[in-house]
Amino acid sequence: MISPFTAMQDALDLVPTSPHPSNKIAASVFGRALHGKDFWVTHTNHWPDKIATAIGVDTKIGNSSGTIHAETACLLDMTLPTEGASLCVTDPFCPNCAKNIAEAGIKNIYIDEQGFEKDFFKRRSGHFDTMSMQIAERAGINVYALNMITKKQIPILEIDPDYKPIEDSPIDYIEIKKADEESFTTIIFNAEEKHKRRKFAIALVDALDGRKYALIARAHAVIGYSLSKPDEAIELLTPIDKYSFIQEPVNRLMMHLARKGHRLISDFLYCSQVPTSREQVNLVGARVKRITIGNIQKCRDPHGLKAMKQLQGSKIIDYG
Ligand SMILES: [Zn+2]
Repeated sequence: MISPFTAMQDALDLVPTSPHPSNKIAASVFGRALHGKDFWVTHTNHWPDKIATAIGVDTKIGNSSGTIHAETACLLDMTLPTEGASLCVTDPFCPNCAKNIAEAGIKNIYIDEQGFEKDFFKRRSGHFDTMSMQIAERAGINVYALNMITKKQIPILEIDPDYKPIEDSPIDYIEIKKADEESFTTIIFNAEEKHKRRKFAIALVDALDGRKYALIARAHAVIGYSLSKPDEAIELLTPIDKYSFIQEPVNRLMMHLARKGHRLISDFLYCSQVPTSREQVNLVGARVKRITIGNIQKCRDPHGLKAMKQLQGSKIIDYG
């Protein structure tokens, strides 16, 4: 089994290669796959090539930076199930990555202790305590700091091994015989009937069990949070600065693919409305070239519509 110190060292070795001028971050996702082989993926935060060359690194995509965070980059690049795997990161994680890590079924996060000393963290530590750590706790993720000099592992949050997070809006699985335009259109039609006016997304996937499925995800509070209690739901639905506890449906699906080791079938991806700016940037990071949109005028906010125009105009994503 790979030691978290080894995986962290790999991230620390890679961090200087981050193209970000000031906040250089790297992460590793590691674990043991079903067949007993260790896996290990490391990435820095970075601009996907297509965004860097066609749009540039100084332009926001909608209201989102064009960068993919290191933790999320690892998860978008996974082909083996990340359920139960671990993640090392050189800096404390942001709430958006916390949500992705939770959806991807990661069970341990290790943070380089030196990350807590950087100005970058000190400026934004509020969100780490009030959101990132809460998300980890609800999702049942252990969090440790690693001291790379003394090789000590310092617990920040340890979860009862019997704890099971709530999932009150699990992803729907529909087995399909083949993935083509005709079956895709039928699945979209049926899902539109079932989830009327709600925000949801569909992905056709090749699963590890050798079968094909249509996966359907609704927008929902991140794993571990329930929207069934009205008081809590209002709190969860209220954004805190630029963050919220709601996981958007396209992001949910992308992270679920990592969690289960499914592969998206040649961009058979659908969203009932235009995804948020951040979701669209993540799609570029996942090398998705096409997404079908139900209502092309509707989005959570106008920034998503702007992001769509930018990515469509630069021919990075086809929204047909
Ligand atoms: Zn992040």
